[in-house]
Amino acid sequence: MAINFNNSNIATRENRIGSITGYVGTLKDLANQSQCGTLKGCSRCFSQSSTCLSSCGLSQLAAIRDVAVIHHGPAGCSVAGSSAYYMSKVMAKKRGVTSDTIYVGTDMNENDTIFGSTESLRKIILEVNRRYAPKAIFVSSSCATGIIGEDIDSTVEEVREEVDTPIVAVHCEGFKSRIWATGFDIADHAVLQEIVQPPREGVKTNKINFKNFFESARPEIIDIFSKLDLEPVFLYCNSTVEELSHLSESIATTCICGTLGNYLGNALEEKYGVPYVRSINQCGIRGFEAWLREIGRVTGRSDKVEQYIEEQRVIYLPQIEEVKKELKGLTAVIGMGPGYTFEVSRVLDELGIKVVWALAWHYDKKYENGDVPPSMKYLLDNDIDFEASVADQQNYEVMNILNQYRPDMYLSRHPGSTVWAIKNGTPAIYVADEYMIFGYQHTLEFAKTILDAIRNRSFEKNLAKRSKLPYTDWWYSQRVDKFLEEAK
Ligand code: SF4
Repeated sequence: MAINFNNSNIATRENRIGSITGYVGTLKDLANQSQCGTLKGCSRCFSQSSTCLSSCGLSQLAAIRDVAVIHHGPAGCSVAGSSAYYMSKVMAKKRGVTSDTIYVGTDMNENDTIFGSTESLRKIILEVNRRYAPKAIFVSSSCATGIIGEDIDSTVEEVREEVDTPIVAVHCEGFKSRIWATGFDIADHAVLQEIVQPPREGVKTNKINFKNFFESARPEIIDIFSKLDLEPVFLYCNSTVEELSHLSESIATTCICGTLGNYLGNALEEKYGVPYVRSINQCGIRGFEAWLREIGRVTGRSDKVEQYIEEQRVIYLPQIEEVKKELKGLTAVIGMGPGYTFEVSRVLDELGIKVVWALAWHYDKKYENGDVPPSMKYLLDNDIDFEASVADQQNYEVMNILNQYRPDMYLSRHPGSTVWAIKNGTPAIYVADEYMIFGYQHTLEFAKTILDAIRNRSFEKNLAKRSKLPYTDWWYSQRVDKFLEEAK
């Protein structure tokens, strides 16, 4: 991948790495088509829902402490500000720090969309800088500014000297990608372009960049890493601009999910030689051990890692084996982002649960370095196959699949999706927290959570009896694959 820090705009995931949002078939077929270059992806004649990439991108940036996000667009676009408020205030409070991050919408109106409003934008930037003295300013575009060709780059350059704080244009036009995860890359690009500095002469630390969402397992990970003589730097929730400026001096970069972290990891490696830990993620025992071993290899700490693994195995493996006896033979449907869909599929296989269908909200056929995502490669190398589809949270397709397969459980990382499954009578497990299956202890807890969900099914049965769903028998009798083929 050639990263160009001189340009504030980056190509979408569709154009950069060939990601898709429509496919129905099997995991192996999906991989084969990816490898031989024939994977094109389907389109839909009906789309129930999607998300704007600016929500992903700007909420990441707004999670950084004491910065300003200026969202140049109509008021409706600034709805992302609600999650930004959550990130900057609630998550900071939870960690015991303060954040004075602010999120400002420029409230473009009809006149602005006809005559342009870069002058208003300039004034707003200067006023935000005067009033709040942020540690960095991110100036974002929107669909409206993209359509009229508002030149936010030039505005940023014009005020650069006056604001005397890092300032960068962030290209978040929602229409440019169907894949909301493109927003993660856009946020990374902005941070890399303006905040991260080249390493100071001779400085190399024992810090390891750890890209995650909400750092809920922070104390636990600090403790694990201290045993390896490593110090995690969690990104971006509650990060400071000062911390981010030194990411190039770290010993390595890792992440909780390849979809979230692969742009930053690869870019830091390419630009500053900071190794990116390429491994299946930390979910389940196989994932956790593979991840730790790769960290050990990359940082020269393999002996310490093996010692830690040995100690933990003695404590947890017998307990996990005990729970597995009750899970063997159960069936599951999964609907998540692609990072987690294929990681959680592996964990379910590890626990003896058969995945009958996996939906990924999009699919990256390769990562920035050209490799197949490790989670996918693991499944293929271990001859694990199942029916799979790519659907950007099209819940009507989830309902069709659940109705057809009647699995023992449905797992999703998106709450709206699990609610519908429950109304359909399917026990659902909301894998909300990114660390819910992290390492030995949380894999054991996850296995027990599944047991809880399937042992007593009266809630789902009763709710299903009393819920009238909008889906007709006609829809339930359709095969999702036929529907998509026709819609190609
Ligand atoms: S940027 Fe576009 S897609 Fe995103 S919220 Fe605004 S109008 Fe909607």
